[in-house]
Amino acid sequence: MARRALISVSDKTGLGPFVKGLVDLEFEILSTGGTAKFLRDQGVKVIDVAEYTGFPEMMDGRVKTLHPRIHGGILGRPDLAEDAASMKEHGILPFELIVVNLYPFEQTVAKPNVKYEEAVEQIDIGGPSMVRSAAKNHAYVGIVTRADQYDEVLAALRAGQLSLQQRRRLMQAAFEMTARYDAAIAAHFLKEVQGSAAAAPPASAGLPQQLDLKFERRQELRYGENPHQKAAWYVEPSFGPTTVSAAQQVHGKELSYNNLLDLDAAVSIVREFKEPAATVIKHNNPCGCGIGATLAEAFDKAYEGDPISAFGSIIGLNRVVDAATVEQLCAPNRFIEAIIAPGFEPEAITALTTRPKWKNSVRLLELPQLMSAQAVSWEYRRIAGGLLVQERDELPEDETTWKVVTQRQPSEHERRDLAFAWKVCKHVKSNAILLAKAGMVVGVGAGQMSRVDSSWIAAHKAGSRSKGAVAASDAFFPFRDGVDQASQAGVTALIQPGGSVRDEEVIAACNELGLAMIFTGRRHFKH
Ligand code: 5GP
Repeated sequence: MARRALISVSDKTGLGPFVKGLVDLEFEILSTGGTAKFLRDQGVKVIDVAEYTGFPEMMDGRVKTLHPRIHGGILGRPDLAEDAASMKEHGILPFELIVVNLYPFEQTVAKPNVKYEEAVEQIDIGGPSMVRSAAKNHAYVGIVTRADQYDEVLAALRAGQLSLQQRRRLMQAAFEMTARYDAAIAAHFLKEVQGSAAAAPPASAGLPQQLDLKFERRQELRYGENPHQKAAWYVEPSFGPTTVSAAQQVHGKELSYNNLLDLDAAVSIVREFKEPAATVIKHNNPCGCGIGATLAEAFDKAYEGDPISAFGSIIGLNRVVDAATVEQLCAPNRFIEAIIAPGFEPEAITALTTRPKWKNSVRLLELPQLMSAQAVSWEYRRIAGGLLVQERDELPEDETTWKVVTQRQPSEHERRDLAFAWKVCKHVKSNAILLAKAGMVVGVGAGQMSRVDSSWIAAHKAGSRSKGAVAASDAFFPFRDGVDQASQAGVTALIQPGGSVRDEEVIAACNELGLAMIFTGRRHFKH
């Protein structure tokens, strides 16, 4: 029986080599308009979905793959007599692999002044339908939704076929993706229906003259930041399912005041990433963060970023914790206070809670909607005699507005590391300098009173790993000294907001030193 894959993607990153690999394995390729054209330009033989269904793509692409010959081919179970008979009767061909990524809704609505109609048109309908069909029928079909899955999938197909375990993992990732996609749509239109309050700039717009805040006591805490300080935990009556307050503690000692602050920080960081990500929090700052093909890899990178600081830390993970990750969590000489993740596989809980030293202590928290996008919310902080209110620094970043300001463009891997470093740096106390390499934070300078001290600490923490690393700075470099220091440490590219009166001097320093630099135009002070 012919092997068949349906490919329909908006983001074509890495697609050419992957599909050529499928063709070498004698897969027949079916595609929608733009994807088919892209693949033909690369010399791949493609059958148009429209030719197979007998229906043209119509209504500006709103209807392309919504057809029983497509969905029957994805959902059919060819070894069931009834399904096989229907497939035969209606000329439905089974698919072994579905490769879909969706219209870029989040990127579109992150643009300034995006029109309502444009946002509506970016709601993908056929894509999620195929993803859900294929994920449901994972007993027969592999569902690929991310470019970073291509290598693993191709390797498995070269060796024979995807195992049931692999298809299950792909299914789980697919539902995470569609859940996140719908949550982003809901969050965007929540802002629309609530009026401009949430979308407005952080002026006093949307804030009433008087605040009538209602918080209910959730639990008394043993003490506050220190044992001599009384403390309790209060929650908003309508806290959302994506917030730390919605997390369920499934094991371990009672949460402390400091635990809660660090758990909140951990969630904010790992939520930044679509790919598996882990972070290690100490005193509200990330001392490590990593992304990888698997959660286990991401965690190992996060912990090894600064293993000395990581002892006794709070861990944030953005995937369900599996056995491979537990092995890393429990590696010798690692000690962890608390872990928050969307969930834990049952075996993972058993393994974690039977580890002799951790048995009763390690706190495990499940936050199923950890990866769902959330509407920008308010942040309250007390000063003596008053209350400060601001929007949380949660507006999505729009990379298309970033500017390379140096003669040298960042290479592809530098650009990936810069984007990664920028996302983590935002969560580090100011002045923040963060060094990263290959999806791993290797040095953090946090909370210093001068930027050049933060640069020095970040480089010192990174040690020899600063060679070939990139640097992120939460605010502009006021002088060229921070750049000089980064360059001496072996940093090759930088990312920062720009906006200093000495920007020209800083750019000239980069050009002189052969560094690439991006200006993001957005500052991320964190006090
Ligand atoms: P292409 O660039 O190949 O023309 O379109 C690819 C995109 O179309 C993918 O992001 C996929 O999710 C989306 N897509 C596939 N089928 C349909 C459909 O029937 N309706 C809509 N609205 N989008 C679809």
